[in-house]
Amino acid sequence: MYRIGQGWDRHRLEPGRRCVLGGVTFPDCPVGPLGHSDGDALCHALADALLGAAGLGDIGRHFPDTDPRWAGADSLDLLTRVRGLVNEAGLVVENVDATVITERPLIAPASAAIRERLAGALGISESRVSVKGTRGEGLGPEGRGECVTVQAVALLRREASS
Ligand code: MG
Repeated sequence: MYRIGQGWDRHRLEPGRRCVLGGVTFPDCPVGPLGHSDGDALCHALADALLGAAGLGDIGRHFPDTDPRWAGADSLDLLTRVRGLVNEAGLVVENVDATVITERPLIAPASAAIRERLAGALGISESRVSVKGTRGEGLGPEGRGECVTVQAVALLRREASS
């Protein structure tokens, strides 16, 4: 039995913020995602896709941005925790796919490193993790460089009961 879920997240990009996406830091990027946590919109969108597929609500329910515990949180750690919730529900991740829409940073050169980090958090092989980057072509807030937006889907499989 399979279950599918989708996630969407957007964070404003601000000068001087550490730029982290998919658990990978981009030290040369002059802007980074603003957020209560580290602002890693890719991890957030994936977490929401997993939670949606499992019928477990959303990331805001599990890690509210009003809770000081999650201030500056490492979102790759949050994604690992979400994977744990999914596993506790008897589900495992079959595969995930995400599209990162942003002018900066460039995703393609880092996609292998991002896939490795996400695969580790999700407990699956890198071949089951897809991350694509695209740009806003001058249109909308992404095209103006104001934000990073991420769309993600996740497929979960119910573990065969022994
Ligand atoms: Mg977010």
